[in-house]
Amino acid sequence: TADSTPKMFIGALDAGTTSTRFIIFDDAAKPYATHQIEFEQQYPHSGWHEQNPYELIKCANECIEGAIKKFIADGYSASDIKAVGITNQRETTVVWDSETGRPLYNAIAWPDTRTSRLVHHFKDKEGAEKLVQTCGLPISTYPSALKLVWLLENIHAVQEARKRGTLMFGTVDTWLVYNLTGGSTPGTDPKFVTDTTNASRTMFLNIKTLKYDDFLLDFFGVSQGVKLPEVVCSADDNAYGKIASGVLAGTPIASCLGDQSAALVGQRAFSVGMGKNTYGTGLFLLYNTGEEPVFSENGLLTTVGYHFKGEKPIYALEGSIAVGGAAVKFLRDNLQLIAESDEVGQLAAKVPDAGGVIFVTAFSGLFAPYWIDDTQGTIYGITNYTTREHIARATIEATCYQTRAVLEAMAKDSGYELKMLKVDGGMSNSDVCMQIQSDIVGIDVVRPQYRETTALGAAIAAGFAVGIYTDFNDLKNINTEGETTFKPSITEKKREKLYSLWQRAVSRCGGWLQ
Ligand code: ADP
Repeated sequence: TADSTPKMFIGALDAGTTSTRFIIFDDAAKPYATHQIEFEQQYPHSGWHEQNPYELIKCANECIEGAIKKFIADGYSASDIKAVGITNQRETTVVWDSETGRPLYNAIAWPDTRTSRLVHHFKDKEGAEKLVQTCGLPISTYPSALKLVWLLENIHAVQEARKRGTLMFGTVDTWLVYNLTGGSTPGTDPKFVTDTTNASRTMFLNIKTLKYDDFLLDFFGVSQGVKLPEVVCSADDNAYGKIASGVLAGTPIASCLGDQSAALVGQRAFSVGMGKNTYGTGLFLLYNTGEEPVFSENGLLTTVGYHFKGEKPIYALEGSIAVGGAAVKFLRDNLQLIAESDEVGQLAAKVPDAGGVIFVTAFSGLFAPYWIDDTQGTIYGITNYTTREHIARATIEATCYQTRAVLEAMAKDSGYELKMLKVDGGMSNSDVCMQIQSDIVGIDVVRPQYRETTALGAAIAAGFAVGIYTDFNDLKNINTEGETTFKPSITEKKREKLYSLWQRAVSRCGGWLQ
């Protein structure tokens, strides 16, 4: 219940890949009220992955309303919330018409691989060798660029809007901010913006200047007839406008960060050499490299870590793994091997190892550090001895092996080996998963007590934008109590033997798709 000490509150809207949540934090980053909704994922063909853009907005509004209702029931008022921060699934691509505000197609979600043919075409195009140094990303199905190219080539309504000059492109942050600040409602002035962390995932942004790059726009054929959102800082009290209607009408939006950047901020990895691994739908290991972009020679991406107004942008090296919790969801929804996500750990704990089974969870090909796009998920090593427990364990191990591969790539790029791994995200809730992770990487895995670090990061950024925090020292004591540390418990010999099996499986999986 509300006490007499005046507190300042920030609302964080976390629009993830599989669910949306709104969490209200006080200035000590303590959560007060939460509302979360899982939304529908559409897989209309093998490799296709879509979401309904209206549902993304509806979930955002419902989560805001739901959390505010609980907050008010606890004796607070909506006007206690000083600002809202937004964090979102990255790369997912939305196109809409500037006159009607209506989406022209479903959102194409980041793991979608319908563009794999385009990947080959663009890899052979003149200038392709300059891409990584310009935007930090290699060509793959993963960033937004080829998703937009596909929409322009295949969807009539998108082509028509382009001809009329009313075609708007955005990632989920842009779509949310546009609608929260009024959208198509007459008399409103919707903001058409994106922050540098989200923009750095499109392949349209020059990673050094943090502006759209003519070479990149020309390369993908989008320099004309597509309205691109204005690129602004991740924390800025003046760039994102105010919420136009509903329970938070008039409240400023003060920050916006891609989810993995937000988790980096939420884990307070503010110094060079600090990193985190988030176990959501996919897995994303980000490593702070400071004020200069570092280009990987080992299959990692260069991305904007975070960028607060008035400060220099901070860059990160990133190891993106497409499938993490998504494989757990696959066991639950497709195979019905488990009824709830958390059962995967219970099943896996019943066996000492995966019994020789290796599950290469390449549902969208393999991302970092391998970038194998001509493959799909493959299970190796099945015999009459194999049980569902082994499959559950192999599913967990797949994400852990890929984390190890990314850590090795990061050590090569940076010349520095992480001594411990900070973790968060849905799958990190499982003790079994985190113990297996520690066993496979051979270092401590440290999990904070409060694991909504993505939302926390958006709140922290908004807090900086509106002056609740002025110094990273203000955050010293945030979310530090009650950490759990998982320590390696298997021998080095066993660790290496398991990992070499994984490496063998990966070396065989390419070339499946012709
Ligand atoms: P996102 O933001 O990508 O939607 P979340 O961080 O919310 O992801 O994590 C959701 C994912 O984590 C789901 O794929 C779910 O299957 C997985 N997950 C959640 N809880 C557990 C658990 N206890 N054990 C294993 N996986 C889990």
